[in-house]
Amino acid sequence: MHRARLEFDDGAWIELNVDDEETVAEAAMRQDSPLRVDCLSGECGACLAHCSDSSQILRNEAPVITASEATRGLVATCRTRLRGQASFRLDYPLSPRPSEPAKLRGEVARHDRLCETVSRLIIELHDCEEFVFQAGQYLRLRPPGLRVARPYSIASTMADLPFVELLIRHVPGGQVSGWLNDRATAGDKVTVQAPLGGFAADTRAARQIFLAGGTGLAPVLSMIREQAQTGRDLTLCFGCSSPAELFMYDELQELAHNTPSLDVRIALLRDAAGPISEGTALSLLRDTDFTPETSFHLCGPPPMIASAQQIFEDRGVADRRIRAERFLASV
Ligand SMILES: Cc1cc2nc3c(=O)[nH]c(=O)nc-3n(C[C@H](O)[C@H](O)[C@H](O)COP(=O)(O)OP(=O)(O)OC[C@H]3O[C@@H](n4cnc5c(N)ncnc54)[C@H](O)[C@@H]3O)c2cc1C
Repeated sequence: MHRARLEFDDGAWIELNVDDEETVAEAAMRQDSPLRVDCLSGECGACLAHCSDSSQILRNEAPVITASEATRGLVATCRTRLRGQASFRLDYPLSPRPSEPAKLRGEVARHDRLCETVSRLIIELHDCEEFVFQAGQYLRLRPPGLRVARPYSIASTMADLPFVELLIRHVPGGQVSGWLNDRATAGDKVTVQAPLGGFAADTRAARQIFLAGGTGLAPVLSMIREQAQTGRDLTLCFGCSSPAELFMYDELQELAHNTPSLDVRIALLRDAAGPISEGTALSLLRDTDFTPETSFHLCGPPPMIASAQQIFEDRGVADRRIRAERFLASV
């Protein structure tokens, strides 16, 4: 039997007993602990934590973690066993706590095609009085007639309930994408599992910078919308591939206009024009100086996250200042 210390973002901590044969996530579930878990196969990223005592852990590969993240101590607790006592740092607070993940029913209230490759779904949840989520979390959506449920980050905030907003990229040949592309319409009955995930804003940072690639905009938009009236120093760097794939341009301009402490920067990989820069979300920070009290929130495909982390590391940003949600395919 070993001890695992879980250290939460608000300074609170708890200890778990972990048997030789079980993972840290399994021990947490057995002891009803607030460690957030989801797929239990190292693919969704919900149970990620930072461990500084690598000699005390036995870890299996987790697809959601790159080799360099593993070297820096990031672990999927659902793939991690202990050899001795170890501490795990989590990016979310112990309180306030979201509700326990539950199955909810709902229906599509709106489906808007925002650009060639992205749809916005507004889902009205039924019987969601007990449902509490934190900006940055995701849900699993199961469309009507499909056996699969896919994870999608929530772009809206608690204030919008019973409606939740999702931004979904159409993946060619994808099952949920196929439903979206061919037939998703208002009134469709869906099932969701929510809330899930541990991606959360570092609200105590002097400055929060958000980097989003494509539909990676969803969770950071929720974080920004939730903090829009707080006066906190917020910067959004949003990157898309081409003009045909750019979405929510006008809405982001309006959000920036109504939020004086928010700086919105947008980049396109090709054919940028006017106020839009050519490049990636990351290149929008090329000439920006940041203090050690700045925190970074990254969301998009794992390679985008990995290159951003490398650049921040080269620029001397402390590891604990970087938070990320990785949109791994087909979890
Ligand atoms: C925590 C989390 C949150 C997510 N949030 C969002 C979100 O807010 N918005 C969003 O658009 N997506 C998000 N994703 C990705 C999303 O869950 C699905 O992977 C994606 O929508 C494809 O589902 P599908 O059923 O259409 O395709 P599938 O039937 O799963 O896949 C069809 C084919 O496409 C490939 N594929 C699947 N997804 C991708 C991809 N993203 N890039 C390249 N190839 C792919 C598969 O490997 C497969 O070969 C998230 C993923 C995770 C893990």
